[in-house]
Amino acid sequence: MAEVLVLVDHVDGEVKKVTTELLTAARALGEPSAVVVGAPGTAGKAKETLASYGAAKVYAAESDDVVSYHVAPKVDVLAALAEKTSPAAVLVAATPEGKEVSARLALRTGSGLLVDAVGVEGDGTVEQSIFGGGFTVKSQSTKGAPVISVRPGSVDAEQAQGAAAEESVDVPAVDAAKAAKVTGVEPVVGGDRPELTEASVVVSGGRGVGSSEQFSVVEGLADALGAAVGASRAAVDSGYYPAQFQVGQTGKTVSPQLYIALGISGAIQHRAGMQTSKTIVAVNKDPEAPIFEIADYGIVGDLFQVAPQLQEEVAKR
Ligand code: FAD
Repeated sequence: MAEVLVLVDHVDGEVKKVTTELLTAARALGEPSAVVVGAPGTAGKAKETLASYGAAKVYAAESDDVVSYHVAPKVDVLAALAEKTSPAAVLVAATPEGKEVSARLALRTGSGLLVDAVGVEGDGTVEQSIFGGGFTVKSQSTKGAPVISVRPGSVDAEQAQGAAAEESVDVPAVDAAKAAKVTGVEPVVGGDRPELTEASVVVSGGRGVGSSEQFSVVEGLADALGAAVGASRAAVDSGYYPAQFQVGQTGKTVSPQLYIALGISGAIQHRAGMQTSKTIVAVNKDPEAPIFEIADYGIVGDLFQVAPQLQEEVAKR
């Protein structure tokens, strides 16, 4: 069975949820090989999780130098492995970093690039949600081993035991003059909450929240649910919440099990970032708000009454 290379997303060897989703998707295409790029010892830490989601092999590309770069070493390692293994496909998370890795890799290997897939089929066909979620299209690459970036949260991760046989691979020296170097890492606010693109539940607030102080209503419900907090662009532009939490066309794309929109009208640019959520709940005082067109459950009401009641009910369970 052909190998499918899966770039592992991790923080110091702790495997992110999206990687378990990629390994699950990869199993439809062939035999998943996890590619770990990190400091020495990273693959060892990641191995158990990778094995439990079906990784047959774990390629360990480890050096102290790679942690200084987000993109360049990953592209170099994947390009070298793609040449060596002739994989059926290469799967990368459709995160900002993953999208850059996938585009550079496709250019390097001369392969077709399929971006932001929300589903992967056994024959290499991928499903994509386009025009703000208004259409679903199916695409196939016609050249080389396709490089596929998969939207976090769009595939349900399923466990399957793999051998996770570790193989050390060389990390090509990074040409520092050509690569963007990481100069500092700072923790973000809301650091105790799950990461927005990884969370199974997201509670987002819009302009209807009214102020940065009143965003505590959104945070309260999010914390009761163990959720990440998101915001519409209007909320971000009004200074209610920091820009890194913006959901939508010019923000982050999320696909959680549950998305709760509080005081968000549901403009197409917001929908583009959350429409593929599995269940959508909207709270809005305007019964005509477009968000209700895509909501599975809609509550016409004042978010300042509804959200605390929801929080109270969740806390009881
Ligand atoms: P509004 O549209 O003002 O809606 C506020 C809602 O809150 C209303 O429906 C109102 O009825 C409701 N409300 C008010 N008070 C209450 C209350 N007490 N209880 C319950 N409901 C209440 N937007 C994004 O979100 N993300 C993007 O990435 C994005 N990118 C964009 C890119 C471009 C190029 C452009 C042109 C626009 C983009 N936008 C984006 C902006 C988008 O068009 C909308 O302006 C924005 O999504 C509106 O945000 P909102 O729903 O919070 O605000």
